[in-house]
Amino acid sequence: MKPDRPKTIRIKKRTPAPYKFILERVKTYLPNADLDLIARACEYSIAAHKGQLRRSGSLYVTHPMRVAYFLAKMHMDESCISAGALHDTLENTKTTFGDLSSLFGVQIASLVDGVTNISKAAIQSKAERRAGSFRRMLEAMTADRRILFIKMCDRLHNMQTLGSMSAEARGRIAKETMDWYVPLAARFGIYWLWRDLEELAFRHLEPESFAQITKLRAERIRELQTYEHEVTRELRIRLEQAGINGVIKSRNKTAYRIHQKFEEGCKDLDEIDDLVAFRVLLSETSECYEVLRMIHAHWQEFPDTFKDYIEFPKANKYQSLHTTVKGPEGRRTVIQIRTHEMERLGERGVAAQWSPSQKAVYDDYYTHVTEFIDRLVRSEPETPPLEFGQTLTEALYVDEVQVFTPKGDMKELPKGSTILDFAYAIHSELGNRCTGARIRGQFGPITQELVNGDSVEIITSENQEPMEEWLAYTRTIKAKRKIRQYLKSS
Ligand code: MN
Repeated sequence: MKPDRPKTIRIKKRTPAPYKFILERVKTYLPNADLDLIARACEYSIAAHKGQLRRSGSLYVTHPMRVAYFLAKMHMDESCISAGALHDTLENTKTTFGDLSSLFGVQIASLVDGVTNISKAAIQSKAERRAGSFRRMLEAMTADRRILFIKMCDRLHNMQTLGSMSAEARGRIAKETMDWYVPLAARFGIYWLWRDLEELAFRHLEPESFAQITKLRAERIRELQTYEHEVTRELRIRLEQAGINGVIKSRNKTAYRIHQKFEEGCKDLDEIDDLVAFRVLLSETSECYEVLRMIHAHWQEFPDTFKDYIEFPKANKYQSLHTTVKGPEGRRTVIQIRTHEMERLGERGVAAQWSPSQKAVYDDYYTHVTEFIDRLVRSEPETPPLEFGQTLTEALYVDEVQVFTPKGDMKELPKGSTILDFAYAIHSELGNRCTGARIRGQFGPITQELVNGDSVEIITSENQEPMEEWLAYTRTIKAKRKIRQYLKSS
């Protein structure tokens, strides 16, 4: 039974439909999808936004259509994609919740409503309003993760079309994207979204650096072409000799990641090993280790560069083998080895709900992250929204080091964490009494930064106690909080 449509909105059949690209995409992963539902949502959106233009001068409806497409790219279900197509109808058209709910069902109406509520403005300063709306977003995503995905795709398209906004708005929106959406996409392991949002935000935050780096990078990559072909050829020969089927890809570092390297003190593009990096995609996990052995037999490996993220996945579930070898022309060559499945999951992260083997893992992980954020929201209800935004950014910080207890248990800490952070990560009493640690047989002071693979044996003393300056020696929120608690109570 087809529900009635409002009389004022007439739906014309178009051939080819301007949303055909969305349906085509959905067919690739949901062969039995209710395409009619999505088509109706698109038709409704086109009719409802009729006559509206975006700042760029293009038809408004191109925006919800792109958002719906991104959601299809993320392999979302029909309701989510339909809600994406409709996501601005409550805010920008005469459509009501009742209209949506009678036409498309209460589920889709609620998704659209959830997305709309996030941007509802309270009477506050602009900055506080933004922080408040982010907080509402976090609350909404615990209700239904699809609201978060719609909001993120909405943000991606707004970032892609930011050029037509005023300079002030560009800076503000780009900063907000960098501070909140990027860490969230990273934490959820949605790599393509993370990378795109980060690069776009950087481009608008620092247009001059972006232009300069892009130009330098293009020149350097041209010069590296022969080298790139040579590595690819060598890798292919190794695979053929072993009779293993695999795909070899190369990829260029993004402008933002290069910029980060410069910020860390790197002076020249030549100092960046993975300006061009290589990826070998295979069918089986066992083949990954086999290919790694072959690569190490052929090219000399640089010490301490091998990382096994298959055995020890990153916090966001990323899996791969990483190694740096002395490749052609003696160049430091970064190679990542993983299965096709790991590659797909790495791109999609928690949005990879259609991987039968990984669904449970990612469901648990999504719950884990949202609970963590939820606790953060609850534990600091009085925190002003702005400060809360900063706390969250830090809490979502994703660049991590993996370190081990003497028993071999792994702990993940944000990059830049110290021995003191590690002690507090294990137990607050261990932190309070910590005087240093033994790492690789050597004594390290509490301020020493940890590096990947460190095995850390904490040394304590009964006479030790936390001091004010310890706050500066720690990187993690947990350690800082414990130190503050101690200082207050003593
Ligand atoms: Mn929108």
